[in-house]
Amino acid sequence: GFKCGIVGLPNVGKSTLFNALTQTAAAQAANYPFCTIEPNVGDVAVPDPRLDALATIAGSKEIIPTRLTFVDIAGLVRGASKGEGLGNQFLANIRECDAIAHVVRCFVDNDVTHVENRLAPIDDIEIIETELMLADLDSLEKRVLAMEKKAKGGDKEAKETLDLVNRCLVLLRDGRPARMVAVKPEEKKLFAGLGLLSSKPVLYVCNVEEESADAGNALSAAVAERAAAEGAESVVVSAKIESEIAVLPAAEQKDYLDAIGLAEPGLNRAIRAGYALLHLVTYFTVGPKETRAWTITQGTRAPGAAGVIHSDFEKGFIRSETIAYDDYVANKGEAGARDAGKFRLEGKDYVVADGDVLHFRFNN
Ligand code: GDP
Repeated sequence: GFKCGIVGLPNVGKSTLFNALTQTAAAQAANYPFCTIEPNVGDVAVPDPRLDALATIAGSKEIIPTRLTFVDIAGLVRGASKGEGLGNQFLANIRECDAIAHVVRCFVDNDVTHVENRLAPIDDIEIIETELMLADLDSLEKRVLAMEKKAKGGDKEAKETLDLVNRCLVLLRDGRPARMVAVKPEEKKLFAGLGLLSSKPVLYVCNVEEESADAGNALSAAVAERAAAEGAESVVVSAKIESEIAVLPAAEQKDYLDAIGLAEPGLNRAIRAGYALLHLVTYFTVGPKETRAWTITQGTRAPGAAGVIHSDFEKGFIRSETIAYDDYVANKGEAGARDAGKFRLEGKDYVVADGDVLHFRFNN
């Protein structure tokens, strides 16, 4: 599955958010229980209103959302790359994640100590990013000599890697994250193989006070501006509100949200943003038994998408019966979509689109 690591300085609200995320997941998918792999790892249902629409049309008995894994990575402080705090453990945990949700303190509360004794989210972001960049610099500098030797010896892959590594080093030494390197399509694999922490996509989660849960505040606006400038994303949430919503029964959640003027929990936005950050898309399988969402990466072809359900589906793939989500809904289901000519048979080269309702034909 896909993993998103939650990082941030101490006392910014990471644990509060993580607990809210995992408790909400249990509430959203009662028949697919929240499972705790480790205390700090949570499997979270991806909220998707399309599931309800499809299940209603098909009369499905059960709805099964797709899931995303969140990891609460505690222990990052100034100096982590030099082994301060939980240092290396922390960096190893991030290395295993596909993306980073970076929680930033944007709430004022004199009763909650700030680890740096001030409220300055942009400076906080820079402390964390600096640690990630220092760890990357360290890891590349350790490898670059051996690479130069290999490249001089005529190793073609070493030459290509070295060229990429040197471009990364220029940026990192200039205090800019590796995610800002211009990577050529043919270098994508090499780049991923470098395993650089500062190359992971980042979502800034601005933790604001309750009054700002909807529109954010001046501090979260500054974070949003920074995110836009560096090709990252940002969302506004109030960890405090989210933790209160998470423990309410589903029916009361709606009333609570209405009372404070929120259309949906901020966490839903955060989960969806995390999903987009990872370049993930959803397709659906729909039937009387269940309507279910499945996760694939953008650009996945039909056999690969089938393989997410079962490897036999991929091995024996023949074709995929395909209806776009909008066509399925507009024509009130498969029969209507067929009558309207919206039912397609797609082969092995078909790139699955977000929202496709699929039924795979395969040989055993
Ligand atoms: P972590 O160290 O980043 O995991 O932070 P925690 O989630 O443990 O929160 C640290 C402290 O800040 C706790 O006392 C929380 O109750 C408090 N806190 C977290 N989020 C908010 C918030 O949105 N508003 C206020 N006022 N306090 C918060």
